[in-house]
Amino acid sequence: MNVDKYAPESLMMSYGYKPELSEGAVKPPIFQTSTFVFKTAEEGKAFFEVAYGLRKQSFDEEPGLIYSRINNPNLEILENRLCLWDKAADCAVFESGMSAISTVLLEFLSPGDLLLYSSPVYGGTDHFIHHFLPKIGIDAIGFNSDQSYEEIVAMVEQSGKADKLAMIYVETPANPTNDIIDISSCRKVADIFSTKNREVKVAVDNTYMGPLWSHPLQLGADIVIYSATKYIGGHSDLIAGAVLGSDEIIKRVKVLRTFLGNMPSPHTCWLLLRSLETLKVRMEQQMKNARKVASFLNRHPKVEKVYYLGLIEPESKNYDLYKRQYNAPGAMISFDIQGGEKAAFQFLNNLKLFKLAVSLGSTEGLAQHPASMTHAGVDPEDKIRLGITGKMIRLSIGIEYVEDIIGDVEQALAKVACLAEVLEEG
Ligand SMILES: *Cc1c(COP(=O)(O)O)cnc(C)c1O
Repeated sequence: MNVDKYAPESLMMSYGYKPELSEGAVKPPIFQTSTFVFKTAEEGKAFFEVAYGLRKQSFDEEPGLIYSRINNPNLEILENRLCLWDKAADCAVFESGMSAISTVLLEFLSPGDLLLYSSPVYGGTDHFIHHFLPKIGIDAIGFNSDQSYEEIVAMVEQSGKADKLAMIYVETPANPTNDIIDISSCRKVADIFSTKNREVKVAVDNTYMGPLWSHPLQLGADIVIYSATKYIGGHSDLIAGAVLGSDEIIKRVKVLRTFLGNMPSPHTCWLLLRSLETLKVRMEQQMKNARKVASFLNRHPKVEKVYYLGLIEPESKNYDLYKRQYNAPGAMISFDIQGGEKAAFQFLNNLKLFKLAVSLGSTEGLAQHPASMTHAGVDPEDKIRLGITGKMIRLSIGIEYVEDIIGDVEQALAKVACLAEVLEEG
């Protein structure tokens, strides 16, 4: 199939799968098997030589199926299809977003290295950076969206470990504030500190905006990471992750995956293949709904501030960056409600259509309270600095009929006591 001729959404139903190898089944069956039969001992030997890098694969040779920790048709079809959205050379899928992230950090960082990361990052990532990496001698310094390129370079230089910088890890837009980090500028920082023998890698967690609305590899990133639990899975029924990049990078990631054994099951991959067929229609509908919900919230008297990329004003300093990095504003909205945590909880407890749950990117709307839920573990001072306060609510917009979504938000806001009443009750 000619990949360049068709858009990714046209290839999601068929790419990488040959019905004639599966009794003509129009969809890939679940290859629920742990191991694969070799035709001959010679074939088994040849498969292992390629898998273990003992000899170079010949041009027309496909890697043979050996054992489901190393490869499996459901894994491979999924990886091939995920490559299309980001125009990546290769992909490795994982049993969770966190296993994708931790495997990348373990593979590309060594004891003594320095990691530069954008702050805030996903809670699990933050924990791994601050509680696991120091145990193996890896230091990390954080930067945020307010800092300029010059300030970030100066910070690395002043750390005394500039020659040990190995990776810049970026999560953008930041959760839950939707602050944007400039990926191209991170590439420039990486290039400044790269030497001939030591190339500083730029890794981007694109869970919030990918794989549809942002393509970090085209903005200078080396590695793109997903929690496929979110938009890619899109139905709140599985946990999975993915890493994309060049052949060389993904080869290293896959070797470590083989030995950590953190690949997804054939069934999870099969579910993800089903999800990918509707990825674009789901995400587009979520984004269209989100635009309308954000503009409703923005006009509501009980709402103090709305954090949504679609509300960035053309005059503001981030507008050019927003346009350069994203082709749509996404479907994640945070907002501050008048009346603090008490009002926020009243709102959340009164939602009827939205589910009160963490996670995001699913077909159903989800609402949560970052300060006490997803970001409960963040240092209290950092929370204040980042603007994650008791009055903040995060919404992941689903594909329900938009008037029903807005109606639910409206009725829940109506149940929130007005500011004067909240203050009176203390
Ligand atoms: C959910 C999430 C993760 C972790 O993914 P899991 O699939 O839950 O392991 C990482 N990064 C971001 C931005 C996320 O939203």
